[in-house]
Amino acid sequence: MAVRQIDVRERVMARNDELAHEVRARLTAAGVRAFNVMSSPGSGKTLLLERTLAALDEEFGIAVITGDIQTQNDADRLARHTDRLVHAVVTGGACHLDAMQITRSLDAIDLEHIRLLFIENVGNLVCPASWDLGEAEKIVVFSVTEGEDKPLKYPKMFQMARHAILNKIDLLPHLDFDVDQAIANARRINPDLQFFLTSARTGEGLPEWYQFLREQAAGTPVS
Ligand code: MG
Ligand code: ZN
Repeated sequence: MAVRQIDVRERVMARNDELAHEVRARLTAAGVRAFNVMSSPGSGKTLLLERTLAALDEEFGIAVITGDIQTQNDADRLARHTDRLVHAVVTGGACHLDAMQITRSLDAIDLEHIRLLFIENVGNLVCPASWDLGEAEKIVVFSVTEGEDKPLKYPKMFQMARHAILNKIDLLPHLDFDVDQAIANARRINPDLQFFLTSARTGEGLPEWYQFLREQAAGTPVS
């Protein structure tokens, strides 16, 4: 019985990878750079995306696909900042997005008029790392309220990401959080991981993040 369950799971994953491959080809052809943004619940990624849309949507066009288990609250918050599409995927209990959901969402998005696509994955640091959505890259967000050992507890997420955002740095004066230790932990898992230190609340560190996105949208990816 156990063997058979593994077969089914492998087939589902293989089908997902095929669809992700198609999504990637479609986005590349349209000149759209997509980011799969992953985090645990409460890291502040919706606020970070709200700020990003408010700052940059006019400049080059951004669409968002949000995944939520039961609500579309995040999509509603984000939709206030853009005329372009914010597509809510309510997963109905599933703890990650899959490539089929992205395929369907793309049908509703006018790819001609955007340069960046954010996929706000379901808040969960475990299985989203295993599901290719056809993104250009994965970005992991965590916050200074979560503990420096997060990268060691959820290594796959940090392995798969090329950039990490350490958010809520405005709270550092009130916490014992050791930023250098957190970064060192992450780089034990992934030596090439690049960090942005941000406070979506105060705006600290956001100019560097915006500059990175401008370069990405211009088609000159930075390392
Ligand atoms: Mg959110
Ligand atoms: Zn899951």
